[in-house]
Amino acid sequence: MALTGLQIQKLLPKTNCKECGSNTCLAFAMKLAAKKADLSQCPYASEEAKQILGAAAEPPVKGVALGPKGEVKLGEETVLYRHEKTFVNQTALAVNINDTDPPAAIDRTLEAIRDYVLTRVGQEFRVDMVAVTQRCADPAAFTSLVSKAWDVTGRPLVLRSADPKALAAAADFVKGSRSVLCCPTAESAQELAAVAKQNDHALAITAPDLDQLAALAESLKQGGFNDLILHFQTYSLAEQFQTNSIARRAALQDNFKPLGYPSLRFVESVDPLEGVPEAVTEIDKYGGICVLPAFDAALLASLITLRLNIYTDPQKPIQVEPKLYPIGEPKPDSPVFVTTNFSLTYFIVSGEIENAGISAWLLVPECEGLSVLTAWAAGKFSGAIIGKFAKEVELDRQVTCRQIIIPGYVAQISGELEEAMPGWKVLVGPQEAADLESFIKARLAG
Ligand code: SF4
Repeated sequence: MALTGLQIQKLLPKTNCKECGSNTCLAFAMKLAAKKADLSQCPYASEEAKQILGAAAEPPVKGVALGPKGEVKLGEETVLYRHEKTFVNQTALAVNINDTDPPAAIDRTLEAIRDYVLTRVGQEFRVDMVAVTQRCADPAAFTSLVSKAWDVTGRPLVLRSADPKALAAAADFVKGSRSVLCCPTAESAQELAAVAKQNDHALAITAPDLDQLAALAESLKQGGFNDLILHFQTYSLAEQFQTNSIARRAALQDNFKPLGYPSLRFVESVDPLEGVPEAVTEIDKYGGICVLPAFDAALLASLITLRLNIYTDPQKPIQVEPKLYPIGEPKPDSPVFVTTNFSLTYFIVSGEIENAGISAWLLVPECEGLSVLTAWAAGKFSGAIIGKFAKEVELDRQVTCRQIIIPGYVAQISGELEEAMPGWKVLVGPQEAADLESFIKARLAG
């Protein structure tokens, strides 16, 4: 829980010695509360202050990074609702395979997981993880499949087995993948925490209810292992929704650390009427990892789209990379348009140019993801900025056309832009992208 400036001041020496660079301890405390200073700047801070402020700085839901480079991030959430601030790390989507599945089906699924890419608003999305479930009594079959899943996909794994020895062997095989060992109970958790620690994996623990799960998490933390994920045992959609919410509220509102970890759920039913609502509930209600029972490209597309809506920062517009985009197959003398790097603007403008049946260049400078008028009003879409960006991408060398079309809403920058781009003629386009097609046909066709 974040501390206020006054709460922090009570922990400081209150001598106002100024050595931290602030005139008073209160001023320094205010800076600490606003995260504009570091406690190490006060040479006289007590151990108690360091401990309390260190704990307060931790997010209420612990961050857990998976994958060799920590590419799958879980937890670190600070709010219950997205409108309060934003959610930080989206629900990781995993697809399950069983060691009893037919070998050809396993190969097909692993290749499908490896190759699946969904492109939306200029971003690429993939399956985040692979879960491998042991159903065969032979631990060697499990280990071999774990190894294969890692080799083929390169994604961090969820290793699921009721046999601690099989889990330990598999964990060693994929050391370096930073995967999840799942799901030890109170009986096997200490033993598997040692295995997870040794092989640098996380541990997903389980218990029949939240009280027992919290006690298990606390005992593992006390024992020095804290890379934990919680597996809730729930048996209906209502219970799943309620349990996920209770755990998250306890972590965020009551600062109850033993439930302040990301969660993991296996969607078991392949019946879409049962399985899809479970997966949707995980994405909507704080799920850390959601394991799907089979690979289904259409379902993944829908879930990723839903996830994109829930986990997009409402204060941070989706952006495309600033660069010179070819629309269609432009030649050096094709016309040049310019717009901002707000994703929606980019896709609407490029779509309208395509609809007009021409190929063109679209110059997209960095505008912090703002739309045309907002970017102009904020001083991010001026003639000088566009001219500077044109130089950076060497527009003069890439095209022979010397006419650039600007959005009609910013007609007032045409003079400044002509000054910033000597030798170029600025043509003012329509205000609305929807009118681009008729503009192109009237002014540029032929
Ligand atoms: Fe207070 Fe520490 Fe700053 Fe001195 S250095 S004014 S004791 S906060």
